[in-house]
Amino acid sequence: MKAAALYVERMPSASVESFVDHLEGQDFAADSLGARARVRDAVAFCTPASAAGREWEVAVVAGLEEGVWPDTRLRDAVLGAQHLAEILAGRAEAVPLPAAARADSARVARRAVIDDETRSFAVAVSRARRRLVLTCVDGEEQRPSRYVAWASVAAAVEPQPAELDRRIADLRGAVAAVRVGALSARDATRAAHVETLARLARQGVAGADPGQWHGVPEWSSQSGMWHDGQPVRVSPSRLESLERCPLRWAVETVGGTAEAGEKQVLGTVIHEIAAALPHGTAPELARALDERWGEVGGTDTWPDRVLRERADSMIRRLGAYVASSAASAVEVEQPFAVEIDRAVVAGSADRVETRDGVTRIVDLKTGASAPSAAEAAHHAQLAMYQLAAAHGAFPGVDHADGAALVYVGGTSKGPTLREQPAIDVEATTARLAEAVEVMVAAEFEARQNDLCGHCPARRSCPAWATGRQVTDS
Ligand code: SF4
Repeated sequence: MKAAALYVERMPSASVESFVDHLEGQDFAADSLGARARVRDAVAFCTPASAAGREWEVAVVAGLEEGVWPDTRLRDAVLGAQHLAEILAGRAEAVPLPAAARADSARVARRAVIDDETRSFAVAVSRARRRLVLTCVDGEEQRPSRYVAWASVAAAVEPQPAELDRRIADLRGAVAAVRVGALSARDATRAAHVETLARLARQGVAGADPGQWHGVPEWSSQSGMWHDGQPVRVSPSRLESLERCPLRWAVETVGGTAEAGEKQVLGTVIHEIAAALPHGTAPELARALDERWGEVGGTDTWPDRVLRERADSMIRRLGAYVASSAASAVEVEQPFAVEIDRAVVAGSADRVETRDGVTRIVDLKTGASAPSAAEAAHHAQLAMYQLAAAHGAFPGVDHADGAALVYVGGTSKGPTLREQPAIDVEATTARLAEAVEVMVAAEFEARQNDLCGHCPARRSCPAWATGRQVTDS
């Protein structure tokens, strides 16, 4: 059930068949409620929930990276089941929450997620009778979780680097290594690799049967993601990505995103603080960060201290922006959804600022690199906010007189402001129509760009040699 719920949340329009494929492709079951065979003299692979109540002489707790464990993403963000339960129990009103209450509820929910993750860590580490091994990745993109630091202090042991054959970390890695051997080896060694692959394929190991290799089977579908004439939901914040590379946009839309790292969690917390305190002074904003820091960092390690310094600077820049804003009225986290031809432009504007009848829509950014002034003038997300305003997205506003990106990340002393003048509504509507055309197509172009290095689809992207299909080799 849990696996099905997670799958549907990630890929709302996937079929039952693809869910079954997904289950069959798992190295071990993530769903702790499934039936389990008790086998003697074998290594047990368990989730923390399924390990509860059991013990082993030696237990290995793996995947202890920040963002992975604890995984601080909110679990219930799509359907709001918890909020629904509160309404049904009479503890909450059945009305949309105002921005401050939404931010507050997100804060409470994130705290609960961290507590859950910590409880499951406590369950996992208490399964060992004699020896406990904690493993994590310490690399450029991932760093050990706070739990490793806690355990290291509690047990008074120093983390040790592991010697690993990098190719073989799991069964998929093993199959890939045999496939590489079958391709590159010669004569008897090659035959041995081929025979091993055939044996693995007979046992149903995923990836061993050449019929499953990418590029070999027929296309599973040549339909687009929307039926003919079906309204297309367009998220302004994802339009830049679509215009930069349609393939990346498509992969991320169906769930191909990286897990939320600490920078992303920090960005969310900064946005929530900004929403809760739209007129907050620097000390008020700093106090709010102090209160919420446990959701972002939790170790007294050097990377954690660097992250905290970054967060403090963001809060200082946010405070400077709020202090410099001349707006007499500010609406924060304004949700909207407007129909424009086939598109439903939907999202949430960070700040809608008004002064003397002039309205400007502001998007806060916590990333470090701001676009150039010329790029900002054409920025897709801001243009869509302005287009939505022209269609009555924001109460009391019949058009926007401009928009702005406010960067609170980076290294500059104050916030970096990038402004966009009022849009040409006709030209922006045509731009939206072009985007919808790309979204409803059945094929997505891979367009190399300067953000390819951070793309989660890079390893399977046909625009790069590493992502070519085996049939092209
Ligand atoms: S690696 Fe670059 S070209 Fe390929 S999908 Fe990602 S962004 Fe597009």
